[in-house]
Amino acid sequence: MTRLIFLGPPGAGKGTQAKYISDLCSVPHISTGDILRAAVADQTELGKKAEFYMNAGDLVPDELILGLIRERLMADDAKAGWLLDGFPRNVEQATFLDALLSEIQQPFDCVVNLDVPDEVIVARLIQRGHEQGRSDDTEATIRTRLQVYRERTEPLIDFYRSRQQLVSVDGNQTIEVVTEALKKIVQA
Ligand code: ADP
Repeated sequence: MTRLIFLGPPGAGKGTQAKYISDLCSVPHISTGDILRAAVADQTELGKKAEFYMNAGDLVPDELILGLIRERLMADDAKAGWLLDGFPRNVEQATFLDALLSEIQQPFDCVVNLDVPDEVIVARLIQRGHEQGRSDDTEATIRTRLQVYRERTEPLIDFYRSRQQLVSVDGNQTIEVVTEALKKIVQA
């Protein structure tokens, strides 16, 4: 049974690594960013509401995210484990997740924090903007997302560390080296 939470700044490599590890462990990769981007592409009610915040580099309001996560974690394919990427992103979301997981009796294994310095992140995201055409990977939005990360999400590092649930991995290494470090964690 694998239940992992991936934490780290935008561009840390969470998505790339989470995909790989979820295949390895045969559990769904649940990325709130992917779910939201699909909703925007389909112009669903959620997508229409979320688009504005995403393009601004801001967090989508909790009221749009919490119900979605609840439904996703209660789906059949999540009973055998999961890998969360992009959630929780603030203390309210982390508190909500705690309550939800205790309600459905699914404690997580640990929180994996992918650590990458700011300069590296900005360079990576600008590159991704060129390659993938993601509308939130422009330099101004990247700066906002980093600031939002520092203010809202980074406090979760201490939140989980103080509960001895945090494992940090140096994300400023090649994809393969990071993957090896993560494999050791999931196979421990
Ligand atoms: P990155 O980590 O590279 O910024 P994501 O794909 O995780 O990319 O998220 C993209 C955008 O989607 C965020 O900037 C934010 O607007 C929105 N988003 C994703 N997850 C959440 C969440 N848990 N709470 C609020 N907004 C979110």
